[in-house]
Amino acid sequence: MRYQPVIGLEIHCELLTGSKVFCSCRNEFGGGANTRVCPRCSGMPGTLPLLNRNAVRLAAKAGFATNCTVNKYSAFDRKNYFYPDLPKAYQITQFESPICTDGYIDVIGGKRIRINRIHIEEDAGKLVHDDYEGISMADYNRCGVPLIEIVTEPDFRSAEEVQDFVQKIAQSLRYAGVCDGRMEQGSLRVDVNISIMPYGSEEFGTRAEIKNLNSVKSIGRAIEYEISRQSEILDKGGRVVQETRRYNENHDDTKAMRSKEEAHDYRYFPEPDIPPVLFSDDEIEQIRNEMPEMPAERYRRYTEEYGLSGEDARLMTAQKEFSDFYDSAAASAPEYRLISNLMLGEISHLINETGTDISNVKFTPEAVAKTAKMTASGTISKGSAKEIIDILFEEGGDPEKIAGERGFIMSNDASEMEAVIDKVLSDNAELVEQYRSGSEKLFGYIMGLVMRACGKGANPAIIKQKLSEKL
Ligand SMILES: [Zn+2]
Repeated sequence: MRYQPVIGLEIHCELLTGSKVFCSCRNEFGGGANTRVCPRCSGMPGTLPLLNRNAVRLAAKAGFATNCTVNKYSAFDRKNYFYPDLPKAYQITQFESPICTDGYIDVIGGKRIRINRIHIEEDAGKLVHDDYEGISMADYNRCGVPLIEIVTEPDFRSAEEVQDFVQKIAQSLRYAGVCDGRMEQGSLRVDVNISIMPYGSEEFGTRAEIKNLNSVKSIGRAIEYEISRQSEILDKGGRVVQETRRYNENHDDTKAMRSKEEAHDYRYFPEPDIPPVLFSDDEIEQIRNEMPEMPAERYRRYTEEYGLSGEDARLMTAQKEFSDFYDSAAASAPEYRLISNLMLGEISHLINETGTDISNVKFTPEAVAKTAKMTASGTISKGSAKEIIDILFEEGGDPEKIAGERGFIMSNDASEMEAVIDKVLSDNAELVEQYRSGSEKLFGYIMGLVMRACGKGANPAIIKQKLSEKL
């Protein structure tokens, strides 16, 4: 590749409030068109906005989750533009004084991506195009849904860095209870600003903005497409035009939507109907104290205190509910790695296969902890632990009781096992002969035969030892 891409992001995230940002309509995804609108959010003249306190708190939490400064003073502005999905013909946002500034997130390779600002704004409605009838209809349910916009510095140099950043932002916001991060439902949408410059150059090229990317995969593909499109223009001696483009998933390309606006095109001015947001030091501290443990901190705890591998800790922290479940289990038995193995192994497997959610399983974290404990003490084998998990997943119940009633308790009676081994060896004299004349691979197979003959409760370690002796 001859050119170095330079990328910055604007990420819109819907806040998990009960109601909209300036009225009391419910903030919810889906539902019949225009069923959640009122005079305020549909932009009727003479109505006044009333700022949702919870939206402000969640925006501050987004700031803490991304290492920003939460400002004691922030204020709202009007961004003027006309579009049919914006009935007021202006959007209330924060332009001059955003609520959070100067944060960062570290991405792959330990690179730090700076966050310029996070501001609060209202979402616009949605146009529904009916190609058959040749008409467009406006659905205002989304008007006034509270958003934050996270604006990064142009610090990214590859699609991989961008994708990692977006995943980490979505994860952090979910942990903090700020946004559900569901890109496919549009609750987290990414705009990519991208330009290219010759390697070694310090001067950024002209950028194009790709709007509303709604999956991590689309982000990667749109960036790759833009790099090759802009490279081709520069190679032919042309100039990249500053414009807004739309990525089309089906064609895997981007198309020009409109020339990119500058800030002065919007004629921003202070919103006269909403007083500034003022925080005292105490209030900021109080919100900070409400922050849960974030994924990076959990990762550190899992690797340094619980002895999990980096990869296991990464998988374990990917989803907050899953990680919470693990924490509860780990709190009742310090078999950290065994519990982690059961959760990332058999439990994850069953959950993925059946499309279940960890919050809906039939067993408790304590049951998983007990199963791990029995494995650690040698009461059951690792193989039995898996089978007990299968039973817990199907029926729920108490693992100790299951182990006792269904013959999982490991027997350490060597003489009993020896008798079984002798019988298996004499029944399979031919195999034994092959093994003794050099087919060492057969050991595992013979071991399997003995295990089956001994039943679930046999201790594999003892069998292995006795079998080796006899062979
Ligand atoms: Zn409303």
